[in-house]
Amino acid sequence: MKSGLGILLGILFGVVVGAFFYDPNWSVGQAEKLHSNSKFLEITGFFGFTIFIGLLKMLIAPLIASSVILAIAGVGDFRQLGRMGGWTVAYYLLTMFIAVLTGIAAVVLIEPGSWFQTGDLESMAGMSKEMMSKTESSAAGGITGVFQNLVGLMIPENVFKALAEGKTLSLITFCCFFAVTLTMVGEKGKPVFSFFESCYHVLMKMVELVLVLAPIGVFCLLAWSIARIGLQVFTEAIGVYMLTVISGLAVHAFITLPLILFLMTRVNPFDYLWKLKPALFTAIGTDSSIATLPATIECVTENAGVSHKTAGLVLPLGANLNMDGTALYEAVAVVFIAQAFGVELGTGQILIVAITATLAAVGAAGIPSAGLVTMIIVLEAVNQSLASVPGATLIPAAGIGLIIGVDRIVDMLRTAVNVWGDAVGALLVDRLVSSE
Ligand code: ASP
Repeated sequence: MKSGLGILLGILFGVVVGAFFYDPNWSVGQAEKLHSNSKFLEITGFFGFTIFIGLLKMLIAPLIASSVILAIAGVGDFRQLGRMGGWTVAYYLLTMFIAVLTGIAAVVLIEPGSWFQTGDLESMAGMSKEMMSKTESSAAGGITGVFQNLVGLMIPENVFKALAEGKTLSLITFCCFFAVTLTMVGEKGKPVFSFFESCYHVLMKMVELVLVLAPIGVFCLLAWSIARIGLQVFTEAIGVYMLTVISGLAVHAFITLPLILFLMTRVNPFDYLWKLKPALFTAIGTDSSIATLPATIECVTENAGVSHKTAGLVLPLGANLNMDGTALYEAVAVVFIAQAFGVELGTGQILIVAITATLAAVGAAGIPSAGLVTMIIVLEAVNQSLASVPGATLIPAAGIGLIIGVDRIVDMLRTAVNVWGDAVGALLVDRLVSSE
C-alpha cells in the first residue's frame, strides 16, 4: 500500500485487458447482456463494484463518524476550529474557481467543438436518450435547488436513516455538532471520546487490510470500463474534447496546486504527490472521492505525516464539497457543447459558466458521474442568459449525449484531481493552523 506500485500495475493491465475485450458493436445505454463479452463484464463488475468498492463503502460511514468526532473534539479550542474551518472553505472555493478558469482557457484555446460535423452531432446527440432524461431530471431546480438540497442534506431529520442511505454530508454535520457538544460536557464525555478514538484505530487497520485488494480491484474496474468504452475514442472527434479536459486537469494538478502548496508551506509538492499515489490510483479506479476517502486518509496521515486532527475533518468535508477536477470539467463540457452546436458565448455567458461551474461542483456528490448531473445546471444557467439575447440560439441539452459515452474515462481523471485537491488542502490547513 505504501508505494502504490501494485495499484498502478492494476491500472495498466486493466487498460490492456479491457481493450482486448472491447466490443465495437456495443454502445453505452445498451443492455449489458447483449454485449458479446458480457461474461467478462459480469466477472470484472462483480469483483470491482460488489467486492472492492463494496468493502470500501462499508467502511466509509464509521470512518467518517470516528475521524470527524476525533478531529473536532481533539482540537477542543473553538477559535482554532473556526480558523481551520475558515481556511478550509477559502481554500476550497479559491482552488475550484482557479480550476474553472483553467478549464475555460483550455476549451477556448483548443476549441474541441470545432472538430464535429453536423451529421455526427445529430446521431451522437440522440445517443442514450434515457440516460440523458434521467440526468436532466436530477438536475432540476438549478443552483438554488442544489443549495436547498445541500442544506437539506446537512440537517437530516433522522440521522440513522441518513446513515443507512449513505448520506455522508448529513453524517458529517451530525458528528460536528456531537463533537462540539462532547467538548462542552468535559470529564463526562471522556469515555465517549476514548471509544471513538479506539474505533478510529480499528477502522484504519481495516482500511489497510481492504486496500491489500486494491491492485485486483482497480484492475477489474479499469478492465470493465475500457471493455465498455474502448480506447479508439481517443482517435475520434470526441477524443479532442477528452484531451482538452485532460490538459486542463494536468495544468491544475501539476502546476496550480503544487504552486499553491509550495508558496504557502514550502513543502516539496511532488514529494507529497508521490506519497499519495495509492489514493490517487484508487480514485482513478473507483471514480469516487467518497469511496477513495479511506485510502486518502491513510496516505495523508500515514505516508505524509499530516495530523489526524486536520485530516479527519478536512478530508471528509473535501470528499463531499471540494471538487477541483469536477469544476474544471463542467466548464469545459458546457463550452464544448456550445462550440459543437455553433452557439456563440459572450463574456457574460463565460462569466456565468465560471461562477455556476464552481457552485455546481460544490453541489456534486463524490460519487461516479455526479459532475455530469450538476453540469446540466451550468448549461441551463447559460441558456437562461442566452434567452435574453435577441436572436441567440440556446445550447441543446441533448448535447450531453456527446459526452455521456466517454464520461467514465473523464471521471477517472477528474476524481483523481478532486482527491489531490483535498489532500493539498489537508496539508495546507494543517501547516497554517499549527503555525498560528
Ligand atoms: N466522480 C467525482 C468524484 O467522486 C465526481 C464527478 O462526477 O465529477 O469526485
